[in-house]
Amino acid sequence: MSYDESLSVEQELERFMNGLIRRNPGEDEFHQAVHEVAATIIPFIHDKPHYRKARILERMTEPDRVIAFRVCWEDDEGNVRVNRGYRVQCNNAIGPYKGGLRFHHNVTLGTLKFLSFEQTFKNSLTGLPMGGAKGGSDFNPKGKTDSEVMRFCQAFMTQLSRHIGADTDVPAGDIGVGAREIGYLFGQHKRLTNEFTGVLTGKGLEFGGSLVRQEATGYGAVYFLEDMLKEKNDDLKGKTAVISGSGNVATFAAKKLMALGAKVVTLSDSSGYIHDPDGLNEEKLNYVIDLKTVKRGRISEYADKYNVKFYADERPWSVPCDVAMPCATQNELNKGEAEILVKNGCIAVSEGANMPTEEDAVEVFQQAGVMYAPSKAANAGGVAVSGLEMSQNSARISWTEDDLNKQLREIMARIHDRCVAQGRDGDKIDYVSGANIAGFIKVADAMLAYGVV
Ligand code: NDP
Repeated sequence: MSYDESLSVEQELERFMNGLIRRNPGEDEFHQAVHEVAATIIPFIHDKPHYRKARILERMTEPDRVIAFRVCWEDDEGNVRVNRGYRVQCNNAIGPYKGGLRFHHNVTLGTLKFLSFEQTFKNSLTGLPMGGAKGGSDFNPKGKTDSEVMRFCQAFMTQLSRHIGADTDVPAGDIGVGAREIGYLFGQHKRLTNEFTGVLTGKGLEFGGSLVRQEATGYGAVYFLEDMLKEKNDDLKGKTAVISGSGNVATFAAKKLMALGAKVVTLSDSSGYIHDPDGLNEEKLNYVIDLKTVKRGRISEYADKYNVKFYADERPWSVPCDVAMPCATQNELNKGEAEILVKNGCIAVSEGANMPTEEDAVEVFQQAGVMYAPSKAANAGGVAVSGLEMSQNSARISWTEDDLNKQLREIMARIHDRCVAQGRDGDKIDYVSGANIAGFIKVADAMLAYGVV
């Protein structure tokens, strides 16, 4: 359809979403992520014909490239197993593709398209030169032995290695891909190419990894929360915090919240949540990190060990709190749960996970005046330190922990400032519009500069 300047904002949004849904049937999460962005970008570009004529939003929502491949590997009993691998290279207008790999049984192409689209905006917001991508597989690492995970990672990288490179596309971890998997993936890439380059981030410190990378997403999401509270002359001291998840993002968010004086009373995993009214402390958190990364156990074991309640198959949002941080997965907080959080006096939400809050739940927060930080801004600390890992690899240097902590803090403050600059409306700040518009402008202007490509 050609560009029609007579359409109203509402007509344009409807036309745009109808086309997107028609072209990407069944990819609900992708539709949701695009709708959330389009609902703020279409009004923003309505009086800017240079973006509309160039069909920038249409081009941003069509990935540059989608790669899908078969991954064959043998389990410990010698059975041949078949999984599907993907890499969605969404947009490299402002730098090499960059974004994590997710290994989870419910990974689909639609999930990875949504994540790569979000990543494009997030990476732009960091101010670093990184494009957006995401990849992964429907492989489920749970219950697999280390040698099975290794053989899967090697088979996966054998295919993926044709499409990535330090100046092309630099994957990292995500759900189900932690230090162990990155080690196996990097080792296989090195074996295949005979090159030691910064082709992955989140690497071990012995082989080109960066200090502060593992902490960066959780810490960054708390820094963003701190900056939102500062806008209202408030801080985290004495606040009660509810967190979902118990993986990388959740545990380091908990650590930073505690360091800044908040009390963390919940953690969860896919089987339920624990409520510890006394709050976590360093010893309890170290127990969780060991439980989840070494023993690969369940969060219910925390309840047995510390004699607190475990709520099977439930999410933690009914526990009264001042601040909430969803740090597990997408669409894990719905409208009813948002209403309960508001009723219980929650004043701020910072998203560690990607798109954890359903769209109508976001509206509940915004209408109630809850400070709400969308994931593409709040959890950008991880990819920001990944960007710093790439810089260190290129220059063959290693920055100190102090240096990196300082850079992470400054990057998060700048992301917050960018959101405020684009999202302020009187004395209110709409962090959703702010993040979308600030992320959009840089990518869109680079795309315009390249002409029609
Ligand atoms: P991990 O694999 O370390 O942890 C994931 C956590 O979420 C686990 O507690 C897991 O429970 C839980 N979880 C996963 N799927 C579900 C589900 N369907 N329902 C309920 N709980 C679930 O992943 P990360 O901490 O790295 O990632 C968490 C979120 O943060 C994801 O949305 C990811 O995209 C996002 N993110 C991560 C970044 C990073 O640097 N790691 C960067 C930016 C965003 P269980 O153990 O039972 O599976």
